[in-house]
Amino acid sequence: MSDINRRYVLVVNGKSAGDPALRAAVAKKRRAGMALIVYATWEPGDAALFAEMSVDHGATHVIAGGGDGTVNEVVNGLMRLPLDKRPALGIVPLGSANDFARSLGLPLEPYAALQAICRRETQPVDVVRISATGRGKGVDEYYLNMATGGFGAEVTSTTPKFLKRLLGGAAYSLMAAFKTWRHRSYDGTLNWDTCEEKAAFLLLALGNARQSGGGQVLAPRAKINDGYLDMLLVKDFPSFRALPQLIRELREFPARGRFVRYLPVSRLAVSTDPSHPPWPLTLDGEAHRFDAFSAEVVPLALRLAMPADSSLLVHPQEPARHDDPEPETASGEDGDPHTQQHDDADRERPHQHP
Ligand SMILES: [Mg+2]
Repeated sequence: MSDINRRYVLVVNGKSAGDPALRAAVAKKRRAGMALIVYATWEPGDAALFAEMSVDHGATHVIAGGGDGTVNEVVNGLMRLPLDKRPALGIVPLGSANDFARSLGLPLEPYAALQAICRRETQPVDVVRISATGRGKGVDEYYLNMATGGFGAEVTSTTPKFLKRLLGGAAYSLMAAFKTWRHRSYDGTLNWDTCEEKAAFLLLALGNARQSGGGQVLAPRAKINDGYLDMLLVKDFPSFRALPQLIRELREFPARGRFVRYLPVSRLAVSTDPSHPPWPLTLDGEAHRFDAFSAEVVPLALRLAMPADSSLLVHPQEPARHDDPEPETASGEDGDPHTQQHDDADRERPHQHP
């Protein structure tokens, strides 16, 4: 689609509406002929509403101007529209972390970001639907980047320091993190594809893209157009003596570690014991609590202005990834963990599209 046929709606977080660089960028692009309407949000829910209303203005593209939370709201508004009427998504990053924009390699400066949206063709990408029940209310939500659940979600929604220690830490700093945040696990039953796992979990991450929490890569092998979620499970550990192995596994992301599991799934259901507290779940940075939820990929549901050569995309010319059968027994105290850490480094997903 040539730029002359495009109509853009920019949905900007009200907090950023007065940003001088953004105002200058919008003025400059309008002078150059960009058909651009701007809406600034007043209260939560506005960004989704404006995105949904954009079709009434004949919008071909809705641009989310804000952080990951604004992108999330805009995606939810766009997903209320039928696929054939759904405008494409562009992003002008104005948040503090901008995890999603950074993982896509988008320009972080407003004028460069608008310029890139105008010049780029869009790529079809997956969106993830979360269906959940909380205390007394059901929720259907979508996200584009990452969901994190369990103890990790509780602390990561407020402090990226925990994740830094979790993924980059030596044992002493990880121990300090667990003690500071009174480490606790969440009991749950996880079902995905034909598997079931019942355990006490510290952290669950479901990556459509790769990073959250201010630059922490929790789904390093995620592709945003392969029809799969990259699932990271971190199970509870019996004593602080187990921390060195936990840290090793957090560096390697094995398919079947003793504490860490990392694998692609197309659908996941999580349920908790009713006598236990509901799971904290953070969707693109927004905090929720649910007793049970399921996550499901909606394949290629949204067109996104992003670099066509991004490593987040499965490219048709990419060689098939080699699939080693998973060992049936978990790595653990009796085995040398070093021999069991590369089992899914290039794991083939069951099938890939487009
Ligand atoms: Mg994927």
